Amino acid sequence: MAEYFGTNGVRGKFDKLNPELALEIARATGEYFKRGKIIIARDGRLTGETLRNAVVAGLMGVGCEVVDVGIAPSPVVEFLIKKEKADAALIITASHNPPEWNGIKVIDGKGISISKERGEEIEELMGRTENAEWNKTGEFCKCGDFIREYLEAVKKHVDIDKITKRKPKLVLDCGNGTAPVIAPVLFKELGCEVVLINERIDGRFPGRPSEPSEENVKELIERVSKEKADMGVAWDGDCDRVIIVDEKGGYVIGDKVFAICEILKLKEKKGDVVTTVATSKAIEDIADKFGVKVRYTKIGAPYLSEEMAKGKAVIGGEEVGGIILPEISLAKDGFSSIAKIVEALSHKKASEMAAEVPSYVNVKEKIPADDLKKREIVEKMKKYAKENSLDFIDIDGVRVNLEDGWIIVRGSGTENYVRIFAESKTEEKAKEYLEEYKKIIS
Ligand code: MG
Repeated sequence: MAEYFGTNGVRGKFDKLNPELALEIARATGEYFKRGKIIIARDGRLTGETLRNAVVAGLMGVGCEVVDVGIAPSPVVEFLIKKEKADAALIITASHNPPEWNGIKVIDGKGISISKERGEEIEELMGRTENAEWNKTGEFCKCGDFIREYLEAVKKHVDIDKITKRKPKLVLDCGNGTAPVIAPVLFKELGCEVVLINERIDGRFPGRPSEPSEENVKELIERVSKEKADMGVAWDGDCDRVIIVDEKGGYVIGDKVFAICEILKLKEKKGDVVTTVATSKAIEDIADKFGVKVRYTKIGAPYLSEEMAKGKAVIGGEEVGGIILPEISLAKDGFSSIAKIVEALSHKKASEMAAEVPSYVNVKEKIPADDLKKREIVEKMKKYAKENSLDFIDIDGVRVNLEDGWIIVRGSGTENYVRIFAESKTEEKAKEYLEEYKKIIS
């Protein structure tokens, strides 16, 4: 089992993820990518510069060439990998976690983030790397105008004339994360009127916590009404996740934002939809309507990107509002996805787009269980599903598809719990499923 790598890179507070560990991980990662060309970037966290310097020293010490992007949103770095013909990228970010946290996301040359399984291979190299010869330590350079390249790529896929004619007014809540590097200039250049809040990059996150949950974006909701804006947008710290607020001040949760993008993309072009086994049935309902297939993956960004890399999908996404548009990259991107929604504002209100998404309610519970019990419970669920000829998916826990929803039973990868999620048309029905299946597996 990987000791440091989780579902999306390494995460920890500074007492765990310190410069010493960052250096060792960077050395092993450099070795894993055959001492090639590596892009590095970070978010604005207070420990970012220290960890970055350790990562640069580690990579160059084993002979990697380092291209430094500075402070940048994750999707921009992930987009740059192909452009720069890099072998990998390391992003020093803890995404939506509290300020005392930091992390290292590792992405390979195709733009696929490193899963726990591949992280284990990197960890096997820790403590076993050798320094390069004195005249073969890596070179270091600053990346050129990467912002412009990314902006142009996003702009190429939307109709700017349409947006300019409508000139929608947007309130952008940058949440003191990395969004200000891209968001203000992108949406102005797309033809929007832009109002900014929490637009100073600040690793203390004084404006709001980094996770764009409904309770954390109260200020945005108020501001959308006050400004009579067409839409509000809020990102997490590294901008791979995004939520919107409609013109009436309604909070649109991440999986609904994904569903809105799914509808917009499928209207343009038919193709498969990739999502995790914990995503709302709304995604499948929409795919059915357009006559396309949903391909399910394990929970976690790396698995989504791995599946997207196989091709034939027009969109990928996960329940918390991470959306992948393959014309940009294989990574979750909170800017290109919003650009598509902004384009659609030319003929539809944000609240109308949200209303088009089939509505489901999700309920969750966790049962304490050690590793042995986790396996037992999941096996029991699988046996029940098999014996009763139910429609089920067992790539990550067991998900049973029901007529008006689904239920998933899954052992947590990091904690001593089995998690049960149930979804249905009403809260009452979802709770009913949850209770029914709790009895079955206990
Ligand atoms: Mg994130």
